[in-house]
Amino acid sequence: MQPMFINGQWVSRSSDGEVIDVVNPATEEIIDSVPNGSAADADKAVQAAKSAFKEWRWTSAYERAELMQTAANKLRHHFDAIAELLTLEEGKAISENEEEVEWVIGSLEYYAGLIRNSRGRVLQPAVRSQFNFTLKEPYGVVAAIVPFNFPLLLMIWKVAPALAAGNTVVIKPSDHTPLSTLKLMDCVFDDFPPGVINVLTGRGERAGEALVAHPDVPVVAFTGSTAIGRRISEIGSRRIKRLHLELGGKDPFVIAPDADVETAAEAVAYAALINAGQVCTSTERVYVPEQLAGAFTGALVDFVQSLKLGPGLERTTDMGPLAAPHYRQKVLSHIEDAKARGAKILTGGKAPAGLERGWYLEPTVLTNVNHSMVCMREETFGPTIPVMTYRTFDEAIELCNDSDYGLGACLRSNDPRLIKRFFDEVQGGTIWINDPLTDNYGGPFGGFKMSGNARELGEEGLESFLETKHVHWDFSDEVKDYWYPYS
Ligand code: NAD
Repeated sequence: MQPMFINGQWVSRSSDGEVIDVVNPATEEIIDSVPNGSAADADKAVQAAKSAFKEWRWTSAYERAELMQTAANKLRHHFDAIAELLTLEEGKAISENEEEVEWVIGSLEYYAGLIRNSRGRVLQPAVRSQFNFTLKEPYGVVAAIVPFNFPLLLMIWKVAPALAAGNTVVIKPSDHTPLSTLKLMDCVFDDFPPGVINVLTGRGERAGEALVAHPDVPVVAFTGSTAIGRRISEIGSRRIKRLHLELGGKDPFVIAPDADVETAAEAVAYAALINAGQVCTSTERVYVPEQLAGAFTGALVDFVQSLKLGPGLERTTDMGPLAAPHYRQKVLSHIEDAKARGAKILTGGKAPAGLERGWYLEPTVLTNVNHSMVCMREETFGPTIPVMTYRTFDEAIELCNDSDYGLGACLRSNDPRLIKRFFDEVQGGTIWINDPLTDNYGGPFGGFKMSGNARELGEEGLESFLETKHVHWDFSDEVKDYWYPYS
């Protein structure tokens, strides 16, 4: 049993003793368990964070930056152990988890640097005897609710700027992947004062919802599905909370007519299959010019069939399992719907032979797809690559935008006219040209439309955790002629 972390203490029992098992998706074996935190536990965590905020908010930005830099340095020492633990609980290939740990270190360092320079501004006064300026203040307790697919990266994109800004946090990791976050409390964040960082484990509808509804939580930073985002929005907006919602996607990838099909096939496979397609910005729709379709799908199928499936801890593995059985079931249902409506499966579509345990699914290339199919409209979150043809670039852009989502979009082209049209006209928070799914610490990340309303990373990511206060100061000490009486 891994205890929760509240007010600097390890808490091994939820208020009613409920427990959640954590299962290795590559073997289906229980690797550990955590308390299923209740509303009473959520309250304890929030009270601890609220109490710690009284002091933490007045620490200098330099002190906070120093602590964050120390945490980044400590994480370097535990790099391999944390990457392995991530692999055990989430399943993705070890090199992808090493990349994730790098990102955690980099994000801590980035925000430690940024906060040293961040403050309000001095404004032009309306009258000479006045002084006007803005202050940037922390809000208080931030609830950071995190999904399973990048347990540490998506946690730190919230927690690093929130702490840097002077807030305290209660982290609610996914019930599938709480272990790596708890481990960081033990060996990376242990210099922080008690209550500044708390980890509440538990099911979303119990522990998560209690945080969202809690009157002492002014900010909820959530990454997860659009359905749960909507629920959080309904509950949180009753108290006019600041709700940062990073939600689902259905990202398109357009192959332009000038693209080299072999390179395009490898780029698409990477964008669609990294973490077995369990990335919010996974490529989930591919649009290829009619004249390139045969050559492109041929190259794509050959390449995809060369990838090695297996446990993430094996260095030769390209793609691990899906994180839980219901995630695989959903992907299979999208494939079934497409087949029933006339799609062709060029490769994949089933669990691989030879991997009897674990929730593996072969990478699946589909053609003859259209926008009436679930696999082209709803988020699949699995290793499927539906490929549709287009005639003109206008049509390709229309198809990209024909979606409720707008998280990211990828293009393969070296034609500047097409590239400019693509980044001007496609609705998405990130546009990737020729280098899919690469993030940048300074580059804000977030969605258009039903993919969310927030931005993480960059200066925007820090701004999300700072409230702006305007101070109007008159030092003339006069009775003003615009005060009473009016006549
Ligand atoms: P999910 O929505 O099921 O769960 C996300 C988190 O919310 C978990 O911690 C869960 O326990 C919690 N939760 C569930 N119900 C809740 C409730 N009623 N109140 C409060 N919290 C609740 O998502 P998931 O399956 O863990 O992750 C996959 C989803 O996350 C996909 O839709 C994916 O697109 C999305 N995602 C988005 C981004 C982004 O930046 N836009 C990044 C990664 C993942």
